[in-house]
Amino acid sequence: MLGTGKLNIILGGAPGSGKGTLSDLIVKKYGLQHLSTGDVLRAEIASGSELGREINDIISLGNLVPDAQMIKLLENYLNGVPADCRGVIFDGFPRTVEQARALTIMLASRQMDAYMLDLFAEEDVIMTRLIRRGQTSGRADDNYETIKKRLKIYNDTTKPISDYYVKLHKYFMINSNINPECTFAQIDVILSQLYK
Ligand code: AMP
Repeated sequence: MLGTGKLNIILGGAPGSGKGTLSDLIVKKYGLQHLSTGDVLRAEIASGSELGREINDIISLGNLVPDAQMIKLLENYLNGVPADCRGVIFDGFPRTVEQARALTIMLASRQMDAYMLDLFAEEDVIMTRLIRRGQTSGRADDNYETIKKRLKIYNDTTKPISDYYVKLHKYFMINSNINPECTFAQIDVILSQLYK
């Protein structure tokens, strides 16, 4: 158990590495609350608000929403987490080192911290998954050109946060190439130790 007894997990990894699928499996076994920042942003777009229109322009081009906006979103979310929540899975946040630093501060001010589970999958596996998802997801960013761009942004901007958590001794790398069951089995071993 950590800090106030909560176990917070940062589920890292490139687009298509399995963060959403694995979040569902972790929630089922460990009862954590799941925050997908992508889902929150897509809900804002669906609401038809002015902010949603701005976000849509950013997301559909495969770019990142500015840090200041994302950090505010996180602060609001953390303020609404019920006191009896067992912990949170952060899926899609942080995506920059600046967001990672801000998250550390936001959690510390609530006597909490978080471990990063970094899902790793090869680019050809990712491409196949995302193109397949694009056939049913209706997501404007699940097409070949935008996926390529999102992967470049991931490699240039998001991947360095792995190092940030390595240095904090809060980092686990997970092989997410095979299938969700195999990926979850690795995560389960880790969480059953952290969640004692
Ligand atoms: P996802 O559903 O996690 O793949 O996120 C979809 C899109 O939402 C990303 O490609 C970004 O445009 C945006 N997004 C989600 N989370 C973040 C974040 N933490 N920082 C910046 N942009 C984000």
